[in-house]
Amino acid sequence: MIETIEGKGVNRCNVSCDECGRTETLTCDYIRSPGNVWNPNVGQVRKKIIGQNWQVLKGSEICPACSAKRKATKVVKNTDVGAAESEPSKAQKRDILQLLQDCYDVEAGRYNGADTDDVIAETLGVRPAWVSALREEFFGPDGGNEDMQGLLEELVSFRQQLAEVRQRLADHASRVAELDQGAKEHEARLKRIIGALSPRIVKRVG
Ligand SMILES: [Zn+2]
Repeated sequence: MIETIEGKGVNRCNVSCDECGRTETLTCDYIRSPGNVWNPNVGQVRKKIIGQNWQVLKGSEICPACSAKRKATKVVKNTDVGAAESEPSKAQKRDILQLLQDCYDVEAGRYNGADTDDVIAETLGVRPAWVSALREEFFGPDGGNEDMQGLLEELVSFRQQLAEVRQRLADHASRVAELDQGAKEHEARLKRIIGALSPRIVKRVG
């Protein structure tokens, strides 16, 4: 529950857990509602608390502790189901195949977007192994997904660019060495010339 804190210049509200009643105070914006009533910006408040591991379920705010408890019970239930049934029911099979139809690209031999066997399994609340088996049998190999393919292509492109830059650096390095060598040779010649000249100059001056 999100509650207004009265008072001018107090941009804060109270958020309490709808299960255990634990309350936290946080800063938030206020939005003017009809009748010149100012209410906390619920969207902003929910975003903040979700960032702090709260859960928003059917319009209720659930604190991290209660949310963890809920998840633990759910996991236990899921494992029970998994242990009891090693085969998907006909309905589950249909659900899995239906979703694979939407999410798997048979021609490319991979999932679309960021989907994986695990994502499908989690979406439907079924065992990932069932999804893998049906995917292998009716669709294709576990060739990653579109996002992974995209990242892989980017990686290859980065590596190519890196190799090019390295080559250019190496070219520059050898050019630097050549110029350095040239400068040294010129310096040596100049010294020899000056060395050859000096005695005569010295004589003439003397
Ligand atoms: Zn709670």
